[in-house]
Amino acid sequence: MSSPTAVRRVLLAGGTHGNEWIGAWLVRKWQHDARSIQRQGFDTAVLLANPPAVERGVRYLDQDLNRSFDDPRADGASWEERRAREILEDFGAGGRTPVDVVLDLHTTTANMGLSYIITNLDPFNLRMAAWVARREPGLRVYAWIDETLPKSALSTIVPRGATIEVGPTANNVVRGDLLLGTERVVGHCLDFIEASARDDWTPQPEKLEVFMHLRSYDYPRDASGAVTAFVHPKLQDADYQPLGPGDPIFQSLDGETLFYEGEAPVYPVFVNEAAYYEKAIAFSVTRREILWV
Ligand SMILES: [Zn+2]
Repeated sequence: MSSPTAVRRVLLAGGTHGNEWIGAWLVRKWQHDARSIQRQGFDTAVLLANPPAVERGVRYLDQDLNRSFDDPRADGASWEERRAREILEDFGAGGRTPVDVVLDLHTTTANMGLSYIITNLDPFNLRMAAWVARREPGLRVYAWIDETLPKSALSTIVPRGATIEVGPTANNVVRGDLLLGTERVVGHCLDFIEASARDDWTPQPEKLEVFMHLRSYDYPRDASGAVTAFVHPKLQDADYQPLGPGDPIFQSLDGETLFYEGEAPVYPVFVNEAAYYEKAIAFSVTRREILWV
């Protein structure tokens, strides 16, 4: 195994966004009965990351917790900044009970199915992704490697881990199919960590399909910043489907169609994600790559 240190503790986090209830429900389940997440050789901790936001069914109180881990201050003005500091002091490197792997559970209003998001190409992360993808047909691996997204996400407090992002679902809704899918993916990850720690672990190189982040596109806006067009019906729900020049991407309220003009083929993700209107992201595009891992 190429990773430098053994895994001693894994963190399963849910409710990082308080209106994404599948992760919060799974955390509550595991807090009640942890048998399904116990494995040999390491401990698994669970964390309801933003309890007051879950309580109120809102994404956050003051700011996005999942953009708050880049050196948050204990006396920060926002609740989420202070909460991020608490989480780092518990689970970060040098914390009270530092973890080696973080799996953070999210939902999306976009049609992303079971998506497995990594933010670096650490060999451990690629091998875990390949292990999970082999066992979960239909799972897509999205490498969101983006310098505009600094180390501010919960899953990036340590180099190893992933964000599990499932959809489409409305916020504050628990879809059983997506909850069960999330639970299976977590189980596969824990199985991988257990298997990879064994002395006789001899991984064979295998192919992994990865959707590599290229860039994000904002909605058309007027001079005041108001959105003036919606995602074109042909692009709606077309996450991970090939997109090329001349394909429609937006339609304005007065009927004008706007077309994609960039490189091809690309594969859109996070198409019309509800939470990203405020982040100026209508969709992102990726390049499909096959890696040997
Ligand atoms: Zn989320």
